[in-house]
Amino acid sequence: MQQQPGGTLAPMECTFHPQTETLLKCSKCDRPICGKCAITTPVGARCPECARVQRLPTYSLPAPQLGMSVAVALVVGLGSGVFLGLLEQLIPGGFFGAIFVALGYVGAGYVIGESISRASNRKRATPLQLLAVCSYGISIITFSLVAGGLVIGLYSLVGLVVGAAMAVNPFR
Ligand SMILES: [Zn+2]
Ligand SMILES: [Zn+2]
Repeated sequence: MQQQPGGTLAPMECTFHPQTETLLKCSKCDRPICGKCAITTPVGARCPECARVQRLPTYSLPAPQLGMSVAVALVVGLGSGVFLGLLEQLIPGGFFGAIFVALGYVGAGYVIGESISRASNRKRATPLQLLAVCSYGISIITFSLVAGGLVIGLYSLVGLVVGAAMAVNPFR
C-alpha cells in the first residue's frame, strides 16, 4: 500500500540556481529562492530582484533631486547662519547669550536636516548626510562671521554637537 507524502513543503528548485533545492520562497513574488540568493529584508526573505526593487526608491537619488538638495543645503545653510548671526546681536551676552547660541545651533541643524530631507523627497542616502554636514558647517561659519566671532563654551559646544546630529538624523 502506497501513501502520498502529506506535507505541503515539497522541495522546489531555486529560480536563480536551478540545481539547488529549497523550501524558501520570495515574500513578494513567491518564486522559490535558496539560501545563496535570498536577501533578508524587514518584510521577510526576498529574491534578488524584489529586494532591489524595494531598495531603489529610498536609497538611490536621481540627479534633479540631488541638485535641488544641494541648492537647498546652500540656501538654508547661509540663510540660517545670517539669521542667527543678526539675532545674536540683539541678545545680551553672558548666560543668555550662551544659551541662545546653543539653541541656535540645534535649531539650525534641525531646519537644515528637515529642508534637505524635503527637497530630496525624504530619501535616505549617504550623499545627503554629507550635504547636511556641509550645510551645517556653512551655517556655523556664516553665523560666526555675522555675529563677529565663534562662541566657544560648554553650552555652545553641546549645542554644536546636538545640532550636527539633528542635521544628519533624517538621512540615517
Ligand atoms: Zn521576488
Ligand atoms: Zn538561489
